[in-house]
Formats: sequence, C-alpha cells, structure tokens
Amino acid sequence: ESQKETLGFQTEVKQLLQLMIHSLYSNKEIFLRELVSNASDAEDKLRFAALKDDGLYEGDSELKIRLAYDAEANTVTLSDNGIGMAREDVVSNLGTIARSGTADFLKQLSGDEKNDSKLIGQFGVGFYSSFIVADQVDVFTRRAGAPASEGVHWASKGDGEFTIETVERAQRGTEIVLQLKPEAKEFADGMRLRNLVKKYSDHISFPVVMASESEEEEQKGKDETVNDATALWTLPRTEIKDEEYKEFYKHISHDFEDPLSWSHNKVEGKLDYTSLLYLPARAPFDLYNRETPRGLKLYVQRVFVMDDAEQFLPLYLRFTKGVIDSSDLSLNVSREILQSDSIVDSIRTAVTKRVLDMLSKLSKKEGDAYQKFWNEFGAVLKEGPAEDFGNREKIAGLLRFASTHTGEEAQNVSLEHYIGRMKEGQKKIYYITADNFMAAKSSPHLEVFRKKGIEVLILSDRIDEWMMGYLNDFDSKQFQDVARGELDLGDVETEEDKKHQEEATKEHQGLLERIKKALEERVQEVRVTNRLTDSPACLVVADFDMGAQMKKIMEAAGQ
Ligand code: ADP
Ligand code: MG
Repeated sequence: ESQKETLGFQTEVKQLLQLMIHSLYSNKEIFLRELVSNASDAEDKLRFAALKDDGLYEGDSELKIRLAYDAEANTVTLSDNGIGMAREDVVSNLGTIARSGTADFLKQLSGDEKNDSKLIGQFGVGFYSSFIVADQVDVFTRRAGAPASEGVHWASKGDGEFTIETVERAQRGTEIVLQLKPEAKEFADGMRLRNLVKKYSDHISFPVVMASESEEEEQKGKDETVNDATALWTLPRTEIKDEEYKEFYKHISHDFEDPLSWSHNKVEGKLDYTSLLYLPARAPFDLYNRETPRGLKLYVQRVFVMDDAEQFLPLYLRFTKGVIDSSDLSLNVSREILQSDSIVDSIRTAVTKRVLDMLSKLSKKEGDAYQKFWNEFGAVLKEGPAEDFGNREKIAGLLRFASTHTGEEAQNVSLEHYIGRMKEGQKKIYYITADNFMAAKSSPHLEVFRKKGIEVLILSDRIDEWMMGYLNDFDSKQFQDVARGELDLGDVETEEDKKHQEEATKEHQGLLERIKKALEERVQEVRVTNRLTDSPACLVVADFDMGAQMKKIMEAAGQ
C-alpha cells in the first residue's frame, strides 16, 4: 500500500509561501541557488555518514548534482545522489518550519515588497522558494541505505496542502521537478541555467552536471560539469573574486544579503586548518533566541562533519558565519569531543582573534560599514567583556556609545574618540547608566559635567551596567560611573571648587543632619555636593553597591 495522504502545511508555511511569492518575485532566480545548496548539503551529509558505513553509497560513490530541463514541458529538474529523506523527514522538512519565533516574525511583514523581501531574506526561505517560479513541485526521494520500496513522492501546488505517497525508487537521493509558471518559462533554458549555476554555485564542493548542448555530434548529450566544483575555501585567496566570496556566503549562511566583510586564512605549522569567516550585514530575526543555530560549518580534510559547530567561537561572536576545515581533527569527532579538545581550544583562540581583528579593520574603514554592524550586533558584542576577559581591551575598543558630546541616542562614539576629547587634567572616562536614554540624559548627575564641558557616555541598554562591571579601564584610563561614590573630576576640579564644597559643608552642617534624620534608614549619608548646578538634590550610590539597573534585574529575577 502506498498510503497516499493529503496533508496541510503548517500555518506558518502557508503564510510564508504567500508572502514570499509576492515579495521575492523580482528576485526569482534565487530558487536555483537554494535547491543546489540543499543538494550540496545532502551530498555532504551522505559523505559523512558513509565514513562509518560505506554501504550507504550503494555502489555509487561519485557524488554529483544533476540539472536538466524540458523547454516543451516547461520543467526544470534538479537531482542529487545525496542522503535523501525518509517519509517522516519529508513531512517535517517540507511541510513545517521548525524555528521558534517564526509566527511572530511573519507578523512583521507588511505587504510592502521592498521591505518584506529584506526581512524574508534574513529569514531564509530555502526549499519553499521553488514556489516563486513553479506552480507545481514534485519531490521524489529515498533515504540512502533504505530499500527501493521506501521511496517517497511529495507533491504540492503551494496552495496550502501537499500529498505524500510511498513509491518505488531505485535511485537514492532526491529529485525535484519544478513545473514552471508560464511567466517563469525563461528558466527552461540551457544558457540561463548554466549562467545561474556559475553565478550562484560555482564553488560548492560537488559538480553540477548538465547534458552538453555542444554543436559537435560527439559531445552532444554527454554529461558536462558546469561549475568549478572546488570548495571555495581551498583555493588561494588571490584566485577568488569578491563576487565568489559573496555567493559562497549566501550558500552557507541562508542569508540573501551580501556579507559586510570576510576573512580567509590558511594556517600551517603546529596547527593545520583553514578558516573562512564572514560578518553578516543583518541580524537574523531570532538572534536572541537560545536555540538559534550558531557557529561555523566544520569540515575535516574537506569532508563536511557538522553544521553549527559552536565550540569554535565564544558566544558574544555568535553572529559570525563561516567554515573551519581542519586537518588535525579526526573525522569521528562529535560535539562532546569538540568541547574538551585542545586543538579546538587553540583554533577557537585564533578564530576569536581573527573576528576581532576583522571588526577592528572594519571600524577603521571609511564609511558606515562598522556603524551598520554595530546597530545590528552591538548588543551581542557587549556580552564580550564578561565572557572573554583576555580580549576585553580589544572588545572595549569596538564598543560604541551614546554620549553627551552628540546628545543623540545613536550609539556612535568610540572610546578612542572620547579620549581624544578629554579635558586637560581629566583622568577618567565618565559614564552614566539609566533605564532609558532620556532619563540618563536629563539626570542631575550630569549638571557639573555640562558646566565643566566634560563628556559623559550615556548607557541605557539593559546589559550596560552589567557589562561595565567587567570593564575597569581602557587605554589605562579608569571608567567612572558619575552616579557612584565621591566624584573625582581629576585636575579639572579646581582648588576653589574643593574649598567651596568644604565651606558649604561646614556652613550647612545643621541642615544636613536634619535631612538625614528625616530620611532615616533610607540613606547612608547626606552630603553637600558640587555635582549639581540646577537641581537641589540627587541620589548617589556607594562605590561598591549595586547600581539601579542591576538592582532591577536582580529584583525581576526574584533575588
Ligand atoms: P535549510 O536548508 O535551511 O535547512 P530548506 O528549506 O532549504 O532549509 O530545507 C529544509 C530541509 O529539507 C533541509 O534542512 C533538509 O533536511 C531537507 N532537504 C531539502 N532538500 C533536500 C535534499 N535535496 N536532500 C535531502 N534533504 C533535503
Ligand atoms: Mg536550504
């Protein structure tokens, strides 16, 4: 019995399909990149699984991807001899979206094509992009190692449901047949398809073959490889064009936008590995979700081993995408082994440095590339000083702050800039933290700084106070919370200021005591201050007490 069933797509898939077809219409050729990318992943997975069980090759270990078309029938067919899928894999992979937060994400889409296409690009549409060009999609697949009787046929018009049926299938792997929409007819064309493979998939690790359309009788119809088929990271840097780096990024990252920057390095000597690291231009919608995949693709001697190998990067650099290809690790590595492997530790240290260097380089570049990065990922980088003590000076140099210098909420002032503007005699880097920018900016603590013309950094992100707990100094200059302890303005404070304060304290001794009595237990001390120019009074926290933001976080956590 073939058990043919008709099943509905998950609601999120239905919504995605509708929005995607509409908003990616002007981008429709990307469907081929997505399908070739999946085919390449499937070949990678088979090659890895076959290391343990080479019976999975079923006598055919020449991994390749085949692309064909039929101009009359108006179809494009892509097949691979990779890992394939079992019936239950097909139902979940091609009928649902497993990422949590998807429903909320889809709500943000507005129906405005330009805006939505960016958002959807950041989501990654994968297999479903077939429906941009096809009004009927048939998938035939069989899991490697399963009997021919366990083939699966999945079919859908992309209109809310699909059918699934168990069929005979001699060939392992997956074949996808796209019945093109009349307006996507252009893709049933040899030249067009060849160009697209070259453009998007030249440097995946596997050959994409098509039937030759040569004029010569001998060649005609024979298999011809249309891409370069050498893994990009294995080539020398000088032989790789920017466009190729960018396309490879899209292949591994599921992102539609170009990366901001990349760093490609071959390391030989004590360790032997290649790293190709990318900084994305845009944060994925679920960057803050704990289950969001992160980490690099791990290869061992060019054989794919795993996706999302998070052991190669600290958490605060989790936005980094890329590939590590090691010759030192064993092909049998597991996630557990990676966690306690000294080779991995060394690679991680080196890769961390590379990413920080890449960021530092980007920050020195003309234009607003670094600012763009900061706006997307700054909040993640702020976890750095706590997580990576050894690199905290470097990380601090990459931080950007709002400041009284600009008076704006945008975080675009670096510590280097701040230091460049320090007053003569100023020894510390002053900052203020508050729940929000406006509260910080209008704090009475800033009055004396305004009067003296001293810049104060304004920190109002939730994470800021916690982060500052891990930063003592930068460029040998101490950080000072302006709302804490005795205010030390260094030599900017004149003798006259100090004298004035002492005299006032003497003069108002009686008043101070009365206020202290009235407030009783609620304060530790009442002092005369030169902090203020307009406000009559302000609250100050002792040097080693918890700050206001931290207190709230602890309270919220029930402490
Ligand atoms: P992604 O590639 O980001 O996981 P896709 O929508 O492109 O998302 O694909 C969904 C899933 O379907 C893949 O993760 C994979 O498990 C499965 N899949 C898609 N194409 C193939 C294929 N050619 N061979 C085997 N599995 C596939
Ligand atoms: Mg995919």
